[in-house]
Amino acid sequence: MNEPALDFVIAALETIRDTSDRPPKASRSVLARFSRLGFARFGEPAASPAPTGRVVADKAALLAPIRERVRVCTKCPHLASSRTQTVFGVGNPDAELMFIGEAPGADEDRQGEPFVGRAGQLLTKIIKAMGFAREEVYIANVLKCRPDMPKGSFGNRPPTPEEMQTCLPYLGEQIDVIQPRVLVALGAVAVEGLLGTRGTMRELRGRWHSYKGIPLMITYHPAYLLRNQANSEKRKVWEDMLQALERLEKPISEKQRNYFL
Ligand code: SF4
Repeated sequence: MNEPALDFVIAALETIRDTSDRPPKASRSVLARFSRLGFARFGEPAASPAPTGRVVADKAALLAPIRERVRVCTKCPHLASSRTQTVFGVGNPDAELMFIGEAPGADEDRQGEPFVGRAGQLLTKIIKAMGFAREEVYIANVLKCRPDMPKGSFGNRPPTPEEMQTCLPYLGEQIDVIQPRVLVALGAVAVEGLLGTRGTMRELRGRWHSYKGIPLMITYHPAYLLRNQANSEKRKVWEDMLQALERLEKPISEKQRNYFL
């Protein structure tokens, strides 16, 4: 709820309280939400407002105009004319962990959300295994439009370096607002878009890189794990995620340490 709307609700509740012999009641969860918004009692700023709700609201407000510019962007005319919609990103604007893929595929183009197809479902499982809900992290792609495909053909193509360089400033702006503590790039194409470096996953993954001063872990794209279901490959990705968890100073259980061994 934005602040003018909140003020209106508070004023209405105060009127009811002052003029009725049946004062308004609020559930525990509503009171908790009010407290996260920084109000100790109706109409009164908290002495030390809880920062989280405020920060999320602020960051969401800062992301909104970037999303709007992306929504109407035509910098790549061929993609602007072939897309169903742009795919900006999804998740917690105040996330400490942010995943970056290469580009939307057909499913994402249809739904307007990154990583919703089979690879996305696997990413969601990985996120849960790390101890997060999908909503707690932020997920975005380097490219915000689905790379176009010849008429009548199926599947997806990787974005070109030029397309990624054209779109990258939007991702940079998103990262500037979100300021995650750890970035995870999924696959060599995303890395090429982000860092401008081409390399094999063997060279790139499993060690720390940096993007805009933020620690960047590189790992396989979940689509790779769908093609290569060997536990040894799953373990590689998992070891990269364990490094991310360590960097975030998250507790890691014995069970988590031993996945895919
Ligand atoms: S890919 Fe990015 S830069 Fe190109 S049209 Fe889409 S939003 Fe604009």
